[in-house]
Amino acid sequence: MNNLLVEGARVLGMTRPSDVTPDGALLVEDGAIVALHAEARKRGAETAAAGGKLERVDASGLWLIPGFVQTHIHLCQTLLRNGPDDLPLLPWLKTHVWPGEAALDEASVEVSARLGLAELLAGGTTALLDMGTVRHTDAIFRAAEASGMRVTSGNVLMDDASTNPEDLCMGAAESLAETERLAKRWHGAAGGRLAVAYCPRFAVSCTDGLLRTVAARARSNGFLVHTHASESVDEVALVLARTGKRNVTYLDDVGISGTHVVLAHVIHTDQDERALLAARGTTVAHCPSSNLKLGSGICPVPEYRAQGIRVTLGADGAPCNDRLDPFTEMRLAALLPKVRPGAGMLSAWDVVRMATADGAAALGLQAGTLETGRRADFVLLDPASGFAAPTAWRDDPYGPIVYSMDRSHVAATYVEGVLRYSRGAPFPLKPTAEEINAAVAGLKRRQSGGDSRKR
Ligand SMILES: [Zn+2]
Repeated sequence: MNNLLVEGARVLGMTRPSDVTPDGALLVEDGAIVALHAEARKRGAETAAAGGKLERVDASGLWLIPGFVQTHIHLCQTLLRNGPDDLPLLPWLKTHVWPGEAALDEASVEVSARLGLAELLAGGTTALLDMGTVRHTDAIFRAAEASGMRVTSGNVLMDDASTNPEDLCMGAAESLAETERLAKRWHGAAGGRLAVAYCPRFAVSCTDGLLRTVAARARSNGFLVHTHASESVDEVALVLARTGKRNVTYLDDVGISGTHVVLAHVIHTDQDERALLAARGTTVAHCPSSNLKLGSGICPVPEYRAQGIRVTLGADGAPCNDRLDPFTEMRLAALLPKVRPGAGMLSAWDVVRMATADGAAALGLQAGTLETGRRADFVLLDPASGFAAPTAWRDDPYGPIVYSMDRSHVAATYVEGVLRYSRGAPFPLKPTAEEINAAVAGLKRRQSGGDSRKR
């Protein structure tokens, strides 16, 4: 039982813009927020007076905010960071990402996942939706368990032999059996912090039969479905040529739509597709730095939100951004709409909300706001460190978080009230340079040697 009282911070509850409490407090019992502010202090004092165990954290001068939730990540790709810079999506997948993923083995996936999770924690991310690998997704869950974070992942499904590299292609029956095996081992594990999702890579990689089976199983067992959709113009054209339908319409047609579905990117859509997304409650995971680096386009976020579509944020995989940093994604998400449709369409509050409460809602988590009954996933930001000062020109904290802060301002990250990252403290989750170098050397060796199918 971990009883924790955090006192003195400026607390951003994220339930509404005015939910900001100077010199606030948060009381945590058994991983949940049980009281806030004056009530938290009163109950904390009672616990201490009764001789109960209570850890006190003096957070004076810091800002306390719900942990960031990233709804599209590829932990298996962290070791592929800093690959080629100037390729569009499909050539980039074929020349860098797919050969890299095909060369992964169990050990290198674990190093890749630890590196990604460490980076995410250090940037204040507490929960994420990941897309795993074809064969070694246990290693992602092991790393996730060790990190203490809230992670949903699943083996990536790529069953169409006509569109996938041989090394990464796995038939529908075998790959769905792998998802079921992972679900038995990991769904609900680590005190409920881990969950399994169905992760068809994108419509181009999957047969119609596989997508329909995924849709039916997810509707019966309640798992999330996580896939890419309408990221590039070329991808939309391929789906149209194969199915006669636009991408989001096709996915809806096979049953992949609804409040349990998170579609990454969703840049190139027509009005019919937007109406479908809104009507079904399907979530869009907006990944602005990935979209910019791969030249994919600009997701029409203000238009989506105006139509009632839930839009969340994700960094995507490390080789397409090349950092897993919620501050980068928030800043770009806020800046891009000022180019089109224009300034004033997406506020800093809107963006921080997308990165916290909206992301948590999309993943079905009791997190993303600071309210009693929610899980105690939160971050302490230090506005005096680095170069975010001064913040005195405005009353609200959201603009500084989006526009002037970066992950160097993250002083500490807590999940379930447990300290999982503390700036400057030893951080064994992060692999050493030797571990990273050895894993990358192995990837390069297996890529040049070929014959990766035996792994
Ligand atoms: Zn992706």
